[in-house]
Amino acid sequence: MNKVPKSEIRKDYIQDKYVIIAPRRHLRPHDIKPIKEERADATCATCPFCPQNLNKEKAELIIGDRENWDVYVIANKFPAVSLDNPKAYGVQEVVVETPGHNKHLDDLSVSHIKKLLDAYAKRTEEISKIPKIEYILIFKNNGGRAGASILHSHSQVFATDFLPPHLFDKSEKTLVYKLKYGTCVYCDVIKKERKSPRFIWEDKNIVCFAPYASIHNYEAWILPKRHIDNITMLTDDEKKSFAFILKHITNSIDLLGLPYNFYFHQVINDEDQHLYMKIVPRGSVWAGVEIGSGLIINPVAPEDAAAYYRSRL
Ligand SMILES: [Zn+2]
Ligand SMILES: [Zn+2]
Repeated sequence: MNKVPKSEIRKDYIQDKYVIIAPRRHLRPHDIKPIKEERADATCATCPFCPQNLNKEKAELIIGDRENWDVYVIANKFPAVSLDNPKAYGVQEVVVETPGHNKHLDDLSVSHIKKLLDAYAKRTEEISKIPKIEYILIFKNNGGRAGASILHSHSQVFATDFLPPHLFDKSEKTLVYKLKYGTCVYCDVIKKERKSPRFIWEDKNIVCFAPYASIHNYEAWILPKRHIDNITMLTDDEKKSFAFILKHITNSIDLLGLPYNFYFHQVINDEDQHLYMKIVPRGSVWAGVEIGSGLIINPVAPEDAAAYYRSRL
């Protein structure tokens, strides 16, 4: 029987965000033919992130040796916010993830990705000491449609003295949940999703699942099992687990030929957040319904997305 699965409106675990899960048969994971994206064979002479050019830049942080580095962090050359601008105050940095021009994040070894997480943690620690900084976002744009302008694999750090309102709203709702139930909403979500059809992977440190109200197709979240507030608190062992599943998820998205973003937040004045990374592929284009109503239609059920990720483990 070729019945079209029924759509379902779902609400975010905590915020007033809604999505219509409207599975389309032709977009189900087993029907999608994995495409391996062409890895362009560009010359490195003009690439600002290749070692011969990057090594001349002042480093905010180097993981590895100066001449033989693994991860290299520099200030963003075209920042939207800066410390000398009180009208748009903040810090923007670029984290070059590998010296290899053609390597994607998921081509890197688990131990190399762990070093990338070390770099995120070190920069978070330093930037959080800067006066007035309220908010630190670490994110990656991979692939044209997700907004990366330079091919060489990199991510970014963005910090401001301004807390985006939806995060303030999230902190508030998390607090209300805690007052009502006495627990952290994300600790509770972990307990529930570990046993749900949206479960992807876990070990003693880390859990990964597709969220119940996934806004994006193939969305996946990675959380430490410990209730810890930010990336600086992850142990080496937790970072290794984190790196393992991050490689798996980004590799699986790469095979689908989808661009993606990943990100996690650090709200300086809220020390009781539960750290999580959201990995959001950018496979669907938001159209009239999304732009007009703010309701998002996701054509891939998170249960199907999770099954796809599990099948490749
Ligand atoms: Zn390069
Ligand atoms: Zn928690």
